[in-house]
Amino acid sequence: MPVELVARTAPPYNHFTQIGDPVLRQCAEEVAEDRIDSQEINDVVEQMVNVLRHYDCVGVAAPQLGLPLRMIVMEFREDKRERFPKEIYEQRKMSTLPLTVFINPKMEIISETKHTHLEGCMSVRGYSAQVARYDRVRITGIGKLGTPSELDLEGWSARIAQHEMDHLNGIVYIDRMDVSSFNCITWQQINAAGGRANIPFDK
Ligand SMILES: [Zn+2]
Repeated sequence: MPVELVARTAPPYNHFTQIGDPVLRQCAEEVAEDRIDSQEINDVVEQMVNVLRHYDCVGVAAPQLGLPLRMIVMEFREDKRERFPKEIYEQRKMSTLPLTVFINPKMEIISETKHTHLEGCMSVRGYSAQVARYDRVRITGIGKLGTPSELDLEGWSARIAQHEMDHLNGIVYIDRMDVSSFNCITWQQINAAGGRANIPFDK
């Protein structure tokens, strides 16, 4: 389901802000109660969903579109199952996560067990690293588009939630990564192309 987006040069953007943008380092503000059901916020939710699907990623936090607001969108579609080798899918405890939208979410850790896996971020394009995350978390908040007000997540879905929650507090995965595992995901192609390769930011 490719979603076409027009380029926007003012927030909310239709692209991902990149590391260095101060919006990614500030603590996002709660959406005021009287704005939660406003057209403005519903439009932002719709835009976040469109960006998530256009870029075919699994989570978007509002600061990534330039808005310092406590809003997250997550989705792990069933069709991703075919895109990962079965061992990786199982090892990472991946599972389908229907479209999930939270306004002013809070997170509770419900298992102290941690798993370490490769993680990347659309706001640090072109890189990935090993990051330890809790296995189970509970998110509570205002759910939109059919999302319940409380949701228990496990495995990869819990990882996505922890990653997006961090964005609301100005934290990026590079703050939590095993530094020695930080890698440019296209380093092999860069060598194969004699160094003439770019990191794509538009898709
Ligand atoms: Zn991210």
